[in-house]
Amino acid sequence: SVKKDARNTYRFHTSDMERGLREQLMMESSLHHALDNGELMIHYQPKVNFSTGAVAGVEALVRWNHPVLGQVPPASFIPIAEENGCIDAIGMWVLEQACAQARKWQELSLPLLCVSVNLSARQFQQPRLAEQVGQVLRDTGLVPSCLELEITESTVMQDTEAAITALQSLKRLGVVLSVDDFGTGYSSLSCLKRFPIDVLKIDRSFVSDVTHDTNDAAITRAIIALAHGLDLAVVAEGVETLEQALFLQANGCDEMQGYYFSRPVLPDELADMLRADPVARNMDAAAGGAAP
Ligand code: C2E
Ligand code: MG
Ligand code: MG
Ligand code: MG
Repeated sequence: SVKKDARNTYRFHTSDMERGLREQLMMESSLHHALDNGELMIHYQPKVNFSTGAVAGVEALVRWNHPVLGQVPPASFIPIAEENGCIDAIGMWVLEQACAQARKWQELSLPLLCVSVNLSARQFQQPRLAEQVGQVLRDTGLVPSCLELEITESTVMQDTEAAITALQSLKRLGVVLSVDDFGTGYSSLSCLKRFPIDVLKIDRSFVSDVTHDTNDAAITRAIIALAHGLDLAVVAEGVETLEQALFLQANGCDEMQGYYFSRPVLPDELADMLRADPVARNMDAAAGGAAP
């Protein structure tokens, strides 16, 4: 009967919710030990330069291998880490690992390879951040211009005066600063001009439909024009198809990142990839496809 169906549906939702809540509680209680237990690891996703076809850098993306829940994506546990303060330790660990890893790749004859690290809102607001980043650079011996810090548009726009001060102290270290997920927040263009930033990263949500949706295409072109007008480099994230790559290349995007070139991979896989350089071959194919 309808009533029974309704009750079954209701029961189904309840147990679903209970499971979600149980998982949430499990994550909250075990995140504190994740670092010490060696459950966190970092995958690296290459970024490709359009004009040279070379891997310009890699982005560090943290993962959590939970003993019961399996692979937990950062979108699920970073907000918890922000809430309970674990992000300070996790963030520093990612930064140290990523800088040390970049040095290893550089010694493997990739002297210019850059590494990007994401900063959460709480890390960005931490008054000792620049001091800590400087310390990690000294400890690992990574050249500051080989470290890029990604801060989301919504984070930098939260309190723009404080953001300018924080960005300036990071900039004084000589690191590269980029605004992540650009286009999804509410940027004041006059603020953008005052930020000592180097890169805008076009959010994946625009890129995914760029070849089918004329609005997304228009927004993407506008972001590229805005970035270049402000003398910033522009990177597209979430590039999954050759068509998207060709659109971005034709419209002057500087770098791209996405499954079309590579998913985030473990350090050894990345080293193999850079040695074999399939990414560069992909780029040649893209350039060949674009030629008249
Ligand atoms: P993000 O910084 O914007 O990173 C890009 C996300 O898009 C990554 O998801 C990446 O795996 C995914 N991605 C890349 N290319 C493609 C593509 O072609 N198609 C699709 N569908 N997705 C693609 P991931 O690794 O799950 O990370 C999600 C977010 O979690 C990141 O977004 C970043 O905001 C945050 N995050 C990751 N690692 C860290 C970290 O170490 N610290 C902090 N604070 N946040 C992190
Ligand atoms: Mg990012
Ligand atoms: Mg992003
Ligand atoms: Mg994004």
